[in-house]
Amino acid sequence: MAESAESSKDYFVTTVTEDHDITCWGCGLRLLLPSYAPVFKCGWCGAITNQNVNKPENKWLWGRRLRDRCFVVILFVFILFVICGGVWAVYPVLFSISYTLGIVNSILTVILAATTVSTFCLSAFRCAGTPPTVLWGSYPVVGKGDLENYTFCHYCSKPKSPRAHHCRSCGTCVLDMDHHCPFIGNCVGASNHRHFIAFLFAAVSSTIYVSIMSMYASLHIWPPVKYRSIGHLNGFSSHIAIQAFKEVFLAFASSAVQLSARGLILVYLFISSVSLQIGLSVLLWQQLSYIYEGKTYLGHLSSQGSGGDHIEEKDCQNILRFFGCPYSISRYFPSLRNSHKRHTK
Ligand SMILES: [Zn+2]
Ligand SMILES: [Zn+2]
Ligand SMILES: [Zn+2]
Repeated sequence: MAESAESSKDYFVTTVTEDHDITCWGCGLRLLLPSYAPVFKCGWCGAITNQNVNKPENKWLWGRRLRDRCFVVILFVFILFVICGGVWAVYPVLFSISYTLGIVNSILTVILAATTVSTFCLSAFRCAGTPPTVLWGSYPVVGKGDLENYTFCHYCSKPKSPRAHHCRSCGTCVLDMDHHCPFIGNCVGASNHRHFIAFLFAAVSSTIYVSIMSMYASLHIWPPVKYRSIGHLNGFSSHIAIQAFKEVFLAFASSAVQLSARGLILVYLFISSVSLQIGLSVLLWQQLSYIYEGKTYLGHLSSQGSGGDHIEEKDCQNILRFFGCPYSISRYFPSLRNSHKRHTK
């Protein structure tokens, strides 16, 4: 996007001297270019035309859709398994220790489970952000600068605003697209980005809670650990330390064999929640740092590609603006956005 907008400056329509005749897709005006230009910007409506694009085929769209649906179903079943398995494995232990402990944890579980499931559904099933419908194609209808820096999406056969990207998995243009997430089977864009971040927050908190509770419950029901010869190890050397570690490991392993089904589920919950916690925390941290920098993941990639000439300010205000209410659709109209930029520069 940024590249095509930049390179188009070189081919801006200035003089009408030679006969490179072309029609602007935005306003339908016939333009005469001084020389052949693969990418050019219309002097009237501001739309960018790229003559090098071949009409693309949307191959394997059904395959990508099917993959996304499968991932969503697997993830949803896994979330339900963690909730139900956790309740089945942890609750009897908690209620056997203290009734109050059981009640407090029931409330916590309901809150965390409801938040995780609802934010997951919102980010997965909500439309990621449809670009606004604009008039295009004929001169009197399209005013001067109405399609400033718009390009033509050859997949959707519609104008594409400067902040929109076409997602080949969803088969549509998405406003402020961050990335296509196969696990929610949806794009992360203007309409569901906050829900996606909320889902990551809820999922990280839930996995921390599950790992603590499964650890606590499994320590309570773990069979007695018998050490064979650890008492005879005196003094300290690396050899003795390795020997002691081996003894402890073997003692735990032999007692783990006697674990009940409940104990095995607890061990599984602990291992899976800790590994998910690490992955999700990295993803959440990465997302928050992009929001702090005022860009999306795709914006970050394109700014790297074009040498970083499209620098946004790093500011905590970006995070507040992201989570705050004034997140209206008006910021996606290039005319408003550009006029605001001109004032701040
Ligand atoms: Zn035009
Ligand atoms: Zn498109
Ligand atoms: Zn998508």
